[in-house]
Amino acid sequence: MTQQLDIPSKATESDAKDEGQHSQEALRAMYLSLRERYEWLEAMINYVPDFIYAKDREGRFLFANKAIVINNGFTHVEELIGLTDAEIHPMADAHKIDEVEQRVIDTGKPDLGVEERRLKGEGWLMMSRVPLRDRGGNIIGVVGASRDISARKRAEELMSAQTKLLQDVARGVDLASFLKDARALLERLLDGRRISFAVNGSKADVLAGETIEFPIFSRDGGRHGSLMTTKAVGDETSITEFLTGVAQTVGIAIDRHEDIAHIAYLAEHDALTGLPNRTLLDRKLVDRLERTSREKEAIAVAFVDLDNFKLVNDNLGHAAGDELLKVVAQRISARTGSNGIVSRIGGDEFIIVLEEEDSDPIAARLGRILEGIAEPLTIDGVEIRITCSVGVACSGKHGDTASELFANADMALYRAKEAGRNAVRIFDVSMGEEARNKLTRIEELRRAVERDEFVLHYQPQKDTRSGNVIGVEALVRWQHPSEGLLLPGAFIPLAEETGLIVPIGDIVLRKACEQARSWQDRKLSPLRVAVNVSARQFLESSLTSQVASALQSAGLDPQWLELELTESLIMRDVEGAIERMHELKALGVSLAIDDFGTGYSSLSTLRRFPLSRLKIDRSFITDIPSKAGDMAITSAIVSLGRTLELEVVAEGVETEEQAHFLAGAGCEMFQGFLFARPLPAPEVEALIAGMAPQARSH
Ligand code: C2E
Ligand code: MG
Ligand code: MG
Repeated sequence: MTQQLDIPSKATESDAKDEGQHSQEALRAMYLSLRERYEWLEAMINYVPDFIYAKDREGRFLFANKAIVINNGFTHVEELIGLTDAEIHPMADAHKIDEVEQRVIDTGKPDLGVEERRLKGEGWLMMSRVPLRDRGGNIIGVVGASRDISARKRAEELMSAQTKLLQDVARGVDLASFLKDARALLERLLDGRRISFAVNGSKADVLAGETIEFPIFSRDGGRHGSLMTTKAVGDETSITEFLTGVAQTVGIAIDRHEDIAHIAYLAEHDALTGLPNRTLLDRKLVDRLERTSREKEAIAVAFVDLDNFKLVNDNLGHAAGDELLKVVAQRISARTGSNGIVSRIGGDEFIIVLEEEDSDPIAARLGRILEGIAEPLTIDGVEIRITCSVGVACSGKHGDTASELFANADMALYRAKEAGRNAVRIFDVSMGEEARNKLTRIEELRRAVERDEFVLHYQPQKDTRSGNVIGVEALVRWQHPSEGLLLPGAFIPLAEETGLIVPIGDIVLRKACEQARSWQDRKLSPLRVAVNVSARQFLESSLTSQVASALQSAGLDPQWLELELTESLIMRDVEGAIERMHELKALGVSLAIDDFGTGYSSLSTLRRFPLSRLKIDRSFITDIPSKAGDMAITSAIVSLGRTLELEVVAEGVETEEQAHFLAGAGCEMFQGFLFARPLPAPEVEALIAGMAPQARSH
């Protein structure tokens, strides 16, 4: 594009010099051709749809093509010549055009490709202005050309509206405000039209007049609803395309909204039962507490744990277990009422939140819920009756915050289970204290393992026929740093509960083996050492290798080690226990059943155990001779032992009378205070030495 326009373009200085040389004829021909060319040019300029004009330095039209003449409501160009834009468009922003043109005139620099709003009518123009120069090169005005770019501008506007909507979707604007904004944007953009959305059940505004409907589809091809718009005159195809695109974008926005809602639901609900999970419960309970603390109402938090749920899972399978949980969830929900909250917080544990109501006390409602749970149900054709243990804490009395109530209800639940299940316990302050003490105790016990604060006492076992000590039972004691020597009853149950019994058991095994070896080295009459093995240890797969390792590092012949197992421990899993017993037996150690008579072993199962001894439980001996029943049981155990070719040891023999009765019944081996208490190793040595003069002479 040329950057300036010269008028007349062909009249240069050199032309002027040559003038005299041309003949009249030639001049006339030139004039005609020039005129022809001018008319031809004018015609062309008049027929292009673009606007083309020239103005003088004062902004007065020198020339304008047909497009301008007609656009401004004139018929001949002459009507326009001499007028300014300000005169033609008195109300419009004509001075802005004037400014640009004046700059071009003043600087001589063209102004090309500038977009401007039309002064007359709607739309946009792309304007170019170049300086108009005379022959001498002086700027005498401006020439302008412009083109209508409204259609392109419109397309751009629609595109950017579409982009804005997509950006809103990407930013995750919530659906309601997205639809509201989209509607406002569309109505502004497509002025004259009304827009309305009918999505997922929400009703669309009724639009007056003839309407067009654009379906809003979901990702999977379903229908979310539709976009409605009133019909209007105008560029229908581009608008239709545009609105189809908008409907698509709205579809994406709704898909996204539903995804987010679904994710939010999953994050706060239990997938199996559909109940609120712990997160949602926490939030709801915090809200409730805030509200009721103002209204001074009480809230109860009940922890519910199904009793023996594991049995259902293990015996009927996980699908049955899941089914049971669903039924329980329904039963609880149905009886909790709309005011309460039910949540499954994992496995077979539920939390119920109930609010105090005058007409229906919490205790009564809880009672109905528990009755509901306990009703029999049939799963896979098997009738099951499930009970539960419940711990309750109430706001105000037992805590003010959600976390306090949870902790205290949990503690009460623990008590309910301890009490033998199928029980409800309400929290009380002493529980908290006990729990804290227990935590301290566990910490101390852990430290005791690290620092090895355990010592063994040995209780001799006597064979009454020979009068010899034939063995000792190693009994652990805890040399507590501040409380002195503690008996096993004070810490073994906790050690079992926490699993600390496994390292403690290992310590005991090693010490007992070393002690036995040390006695042998000092030529004390050979003593078999019995060591107690707890359930938890027995289930540990490393037990056999632990025993082997203790024997090996002490250098003790396995025949001098006896392991005491309890009856109840063996009966839990008879086959597994038999396998484990054979493993141990293969090491060369002997096995005894401790506290015999308290479990439920039958003769037929007992026969399958690779045992050497039965130890009659102390409880049967204590009341001899006052309880005839105990005496009968004791006699029976002794004869059972004889039948199975097992040695029988009576534990807890405290009186001569008891010893006498046992001897009469055929039990020759005793362990009890009558003969000796559990003693530190040196005292055991002294006792044995005192009984055997030949040993003392060393
Ligand atoms: P247990 O294995 O039945 O041990 C016998 C318990 O009866 C010992 O109590 C012993 O002092 C007590 N006893 C023995 N003769 C008499 C008597 O004539 N009268 C009375 N009243 N009691 C008598 P201790 O030492 O308090 O041990 C209690 C229980 O702790 C043991 O019962 C055993 O089950 C467990 N235990 C002891 N040491 C260990 C150990 O190293 N590991 C494991 N897992 N448990 C142990
Ligand atoms: Mg024992
Ligand atoms: Mg015992």
